[in-house]
Amino acid sequence: LNEKKQIIRKTGILEFIDSKLNLQDVGGLSTLKKWLDLRSHCFEKKAKSFGILPPKGLLLTGVPGCGKSLTAKCVSSAWNMPLLRLDMGKIFQGIGGSSESNIRLALKTAEAISPCILWIDEIEKGLSGSNGGGGDGGTSTRVFGTLLTWMQEKTSPVFVFATANNINGLPPELLRKGRFDEIFFVDFPSLEERRKILEIHISKLKRDLSNFDLDKLAKLSGEEKFGKDVVLAGAELEAWVADSLIEAFSRKINGDSNADLSMQDFETTINRLVPMGQMRKDEFIKLRQWANDNAV
Ligand code: ATP
Repeated sequence: LNEKKQIIRKTGILEFIDSKLNLQDVGGLSTLKKWLDLRSHCFEKKAKSFGILPPKGLLLTGVPGCGKSLTAKCVSSAWNMPLLRLDMGKIFQGIGGSSESNIRLALKTAEAISPCILWIDEIEKGLSGSNGGGGDGGTSTRVFGTLLTWMQEKTSPVFVFATANNINGLPPELLRKGRFDEIFFVDFPSLEERRKILEIHISKLKRDLSNFDLDKLAKLSGEEKFGKDVVLAGAELEAWVADSLIEAFSRKINGDSNADLSMQDFETTINRLVPMGQMRKDEFIKLRQWANDNAV
């Protein structure tokens, strides 16, 4: 493993992600987790002799802060495979023809390390110029072409885990059926999912969960507080927990020596939050419409 880490570090483009997280750290997203769980042994020798082809990859798109990157980190321990993060920005940092050699080097390295998971984070950032308007002399088109051809032809067990926030930047060829095994859309969390996410983050603080009315908190983080169709994203729920902890701490240092995180802190801090879902409502409605036709 150490040798593999060395090889990856030398490329300067790939990053080895050492994560101890597992799928229980992701609240909700049950369809995605089931899909991943079902494939957890598909890279093993016994799967091959059973006639199974190694899964090619998936594309995860959706609302920011709802667990796409988190899931990428968790799948590595769930599948017991190394996770390499490909930084598309770094691919394009070279001068002249080196973007193309960078992508080839990244893909060759992933193959050498395989079986592994290649996490292409915010894939749209690197590829948005590849459908014509890039103005980069065709570099992004060629990089994209190399990536697509590789994805089509690869035989080594490299699972591509691509994440994207903005599907408008993605060339249609990438979204075509068959390129990825599946395209998932990650939406804002439902009431039950918000409850679970809050439970995960409060538990991390080593507080007694029985002191908190999670059902009430889940409701407070949604339509009840913010109005129709507006709920907090996973990252916002995490930030709400952190804010409430600071609130409790400030009560403690301001004289209430027995103060600890309580429902009262959550009820105070929620009033300071302006949900992303409220600020970018129209954008998310469009995204959801796209997802209805194109993703799971
Ligand atoms: P972005 O595209 O902005 O990076 P993302 O969808 O990849 O967004 P993450 O980076 O996975 O979002 O989420 C940020 C943080 O929010 C996570 O590290 C995690 O702590 C928390 N979080 C988000 N979604 C969930 C979830 N479903 N369960 C538990 N925690 C979550």
